[in-house]
Amino acid sequence: MLIIPEKVSYLANLQCTDCGSIYSADKVHTFCPDCQSPLLVNYDLNAARQHVDRDEIHRRQKGMWRWHELLPVRESQNMVTLGEGDTALLRLPHVGKSLGLTHLFVKEESSNPTGSFKARGLSAAISKAKELGIQKVIIPTAGNAGGAMAAYAARANMQALIYMPKDTPNANIVESRIAGAEVILVDGIISDAAGMAGETARKDGWFDVSTFKEPYRMEGKKVMGYELAEAFNWELPDVIIYPTGGGTGLVGMWKAFEELEQLGWLNNAKRPRMVSVQAEGCAPVVQAFEKKATFCDFWVNAKTIASGLRVPKSFADHLILANLYESNGTAIAVSDTSITEAQKELAKAEGIFAAPEGAATLAALKELIKQKWIQPDERVVIFNTGSGLKYLDQQN
Ligand SMILES: *Cc1c(COP(=O)(O)O)cnc(C)c1O
Ligand SMILES: [Zn+2]
Repeated sequence: MLIIPEKVSYLANLQCTDCGSIYSADKVHTFCPDCQSPLLVNYDLNAARQHVDRDEIHRRQKGMWRWHELLPVRESQNMVTLGEGDTALLRLPHVGKSLGLTHLFVKEESSNPTGSFKARGLSAAISKAKELGIQKVIIPTAGNAGGAMAAYAARANMQALIYMPKDTPNANIVESRIAGAEVILVDGIISDAAGMAGETARKDGWFDVSTFKEPYRMEGKKVMGYELAEAFNWELPDVIIYPTGGGTGLVGMWKAFEELEQLGWLNNAKRPRMVSVQAEGCAPVVQAFEKKATFCDFWVNAKTIASGLRVPKSFADHLILANLYESNGTAIAVSDTSITEAQKELAKAEGIFAAPEGAATLAALKELIKQKWIQPDERVVIFNTGSGLKYLDQQN
């Protein structure tokens, strides 16, 4: 049983990542109306530092919501949970050995509800939407976010409307419809779906939970950063390799590290180098990183088997890039062929049937070792963000 102490959340307010304007976290907000930039969630970390104990959190019942003081929901009855979070951090002994790495790990996100880490973000977003009295949610999605939204919306008794490209993996269409969501298949990619969803949202009063167009999905995904810190005994690994579409997890984990530092919970100040992995057929972050740009150009003709990476321009592109620069990280594009090979290797050598997006992080790791960007004794975490089982119609 979850024992909720007096203060459920130290939620303070929302802040624009561009102009710094403050918005109430107790009213419905999307993004900054002045700058069209994402809003980040602030907490009263000074108070939390005094009253919240990291070791007490460690002893709680497993799951994302054991971090509720640092999550945006004020009343525990609004937490919509399906058991997300606290995924395994597994060593990869065989792959590690063949690559000459002594400390290689995978964060195994495929065990989340709905088979991907999107569950974390949607659990947080739907919970906060419930708290704010929202009843109709809409999303454009490359697949897994739609499936996750459908499940959490069902659980929260909300109406769900989903726009998906028509070549989205069948599992995502089926899982959304079975949970009662209406699914509209779009002749195009996620940016086309986003345009249509945005228009319907404005016209018919749906709340748009697109990546970074509401502040709370990132709050769910940031918990991956807390879990990593805890698993490494309140230090952080040297390198994090993350498959980047919208960048929620990358930006979220960086925010988590910042918060942990302010809470005084980290044993040292050393931050990981963050690596953004994209597919060669859709690599706007890599292209921008190589030009040292602060924003991405829209990627034309995005094409890759890793549907979660088929994002031609993230709404938070400047935040992703800022995190890469600040962490001394890098960005790297891998081919669909190398993704498929890495997927087979992970399954054969370690028994993990990864989503193509997850496999992409292993493909990138190999490239970074070749470039000597990673040293043999560094602690490296790759991310398997979803289950390979959701992509069977694209597999043989
Ligand atoms: C959405 C998705 C990604 C990309 O995640 P972001 O945090 O939006 O960058 C990666 N892998 C899978 C399986 C996904 O569904
Ligand atoms: Zn602003």
